[in-house]
Amino acid sequence: MPERIEDYEVLGIIGTGSFGTCYKVRKRNTSHVFVWKAVDYGSMSEERKKLLVSEVNLLRELRHPNIVRYYDRILHKESATIYIIMEWCVGGDLATMITKCKRNNTYLEEAFIWRALYQTSRALQACHSPGRPVLHRDIKPANLFLDSDFNIKLGDFGLARILTNAKDDDKEDENDSLYAQTVVGTPYYMSPEVVKGSKYNRKSDVWSLGCVIYELCSLTPPFSSGNIKSLTTRIKGGRFERIPSHYSNELQQMITFMLTVNHEIRPSIETILHHPSVVTHIATWS
Ligand code: ADP
Ligand code: MG
Repeated sequence: MPERIEDYEVLGIIGTGSFGTCYKVRKRNTSHVFVWKAVDYGSMSEERKKLLVSEVNLLRELRHPNIVRYYDRILHKESATIYIIMEWCVGGDLATMITKCKRNNTYLEEAFIWRALYQTSRALQACHSPGRPVLHRDIKPANLFLDSDFNIKLGDFGLARILTNAKDDDKEDENDSLYAQTVVGTPYYMSPEVVKGSKYNRKSDVWSLGCVIYELCSLTPPFSSGNIKSLTTRIKGGRFERIPSHYSNELQQMITFMLTVNHEIRPSIETILHHPSVVTHIATWS
């Protein structure tokens, strides 16, 4: 039986994003807590609506400990709302965490940052694996969540692309850079090749990951500017300041490796996961 919104009790609002509002909800019969994202589909074309539903169906197949789990969707015709039901990430998102650190003048522990690097790479590896043509395309602190044990959960993908006016059938084409600029806001995490208008590829995700890991250390992105033109110049130049001095050279080198301007020599996710520095750091966790 398809689920109904009455099967859930709304516990509270989490926040409103560009495409809808997230609520904390409890399933009545199991008392399990979830998040649902309420998206108004009233102004969507029939085609786009179908696409959204099929994308959620696809996401439902993606099961990985470091990927936010999508469970279901409920179409509520009366209010023209689609409710996307997903795992609740108790720890919130990394953008909020970075903001808190800045406000409190604190830095994140290096061990946490290595773990974030490893776990996000594992999530991307799952997205990149054969038969799964899911490119994330929007890796940024706001889309990385934390569970109660501070494990990373990559979330919020696919949907943004559908909920905007990007062409429907262009999973990997030149619309990407336009997409990134219009949807993502300031494209701090956009790779040099995408900036130059080339096709988005798996290595572009590695670049974005490098930017996020850098930001976890420095609490500011590696490349930033008040205007898009100089930002893209900086990205293409690929020069950035060292992460704060209390972080190791090893971590700095790892970030430098990921932020290789030439995507052909930039490491793949597999290379990162097998890198001795990463292997050593995951081996030392308790
Ligand atoms: P945005 O478009 O800004 O990404 P979202 O609608 O995705 O907005 O999210 C709104 C708020 O809900 C954000 O604060 C986000 O951190 C939070 N949120 C989204 N998904 C989850 C989740 N699965 N678990 C916990 N918090 C979430
Ligand atoms: Mg989001």
